[in-house]
Amino acid sequence: MEQTDRMDCRGIGSDKEASWESGVRRVVPYTPGEQPRQAGIIKLNTNECPYPPSPQVKRLAAEFETDVLRLYPDPEASLLVKSIASHFGVGEDQVFVGIGSDDVLAMAFLTFFNTDKPILFPDITYSFYDVWANLFGIPFFRPALDENFRLVKEDYLVPNGGIVIANPNAPTGICEPLSVIEEIIAKNPGSLVIIDEAYVDFGGESAMPLVEKYENLLVVQTFSKSRAMAGMRIGFAVGSTKAIRYLRDVKFSFNSYTMDAPTIAWGAASMADDAYFRETVEKVVTTREYLKKELASLGFSFPDSRTNFVFASHERVPAAELFAALKEAGIYVRYFPGERTGNHLRITVGTREQTEALLAFLRKYLK
Ligand SMILES: *Cc1c(COP(=O)(O)O)cnc(C)c1O
Repeated sequence: MEQTDRMDCRGIGSDKEASWESGVRRVVPYTPGEQPRQAGIIKLNTNECPYPPSPQVKRLAAEFETDVLRLYPDPEASLLVKSIASHFGVGEDQVFVGIGSDDVLAMAFLTFFNTDKPILFPDITYSFYDVWANLFGIPFFRPALDENFRLVKEDYLVPNGGIVIANPNAPTGICEPLSVIEEIIAKNPGSLVIIDEAYVDFGGESAMPLVEKYENLLVVQTFSKSRAMAGMRIGFAVGSTKAIRYLRDVKFSFNSYTMDAPTIAWGAASMADDAYFRETVEKVVTTREYLKKELASLGFSFPDSRTNFVFASHERVPAAELFAALKEAGIYVRYFPGERTGNHLRITVGTREQTEALLAFLRKYLK
């Protein structure tokens, strides 16, 4: 019935309705952070890792045999799925991989959010969530974080069509305790709950151990931040076998061969090199603590970051002005205009040297 209505409306409308444009899916796209390529700039705007990927990836890249490109890649990406499953001690049938966690999240929205009830995510969070909801026609509601940018648990204990929580959250850097996350999952057995853990490796509390307990939980992580491979595009979800099966069914109804052969091989090598991963994360965390201390002494305040960025606001100088001055000096940070975020800068933790350069500029500018 609905199908027929739609066909009628497209087929025999007025001349104006019959325009080819009346059938266009119109969306307002997500605006990614700038990716300037000029040499010499200090790039602290998109939360990439300042260190190179594992040396094992470099070795594989050097030895890469282009003959394999003749063949389609493994649609199951088994090598990569195996390495992730073994790292987290879950079954291979509990792991789903995608082209960055953006792809994984988009597939999850498409798969799990199909009721008339609104899905819930905070007013201040990763700004791709509402873009996907709009793209797929999913109704959504964004409960406001409190005045300290904290999640208000009760807002998620109401009827809903699904829940998405970035924990730690972006761009605030705040990590909510696992007990709060668990309560939200436990009290919503009728909804799929996505926990986006893009930054969890820098000091968050992962919900990964809860996947054995709750069928309605999907934990999403990425290789783009803590694993230093944003350019490779690898994200993954861990969940119940049932949830992962639904996700795979949708993915294989869309495009079977999304992940290419080098990505599968190099991603597996990166995941297996746990020692390098830990060393890199530790360096970033050490620099973050130093950055916090120095920013505070310069008159900045910020929520306690458990990520690889700091969401900082200055006591005197507006964020928009600082953003422009930094950019002029070749230091790129991220700025989100808006009533509640517009006086903050989101500053990615770089190397110690990059951090010193940022601080040197700020000391001079703020004097
Ligand atoms: C960076 C980020 C992602 C997307 O990362 P991918 O590069 O697509 O894996 C997803 N969620 C949050 C909160 C992020 O900050």
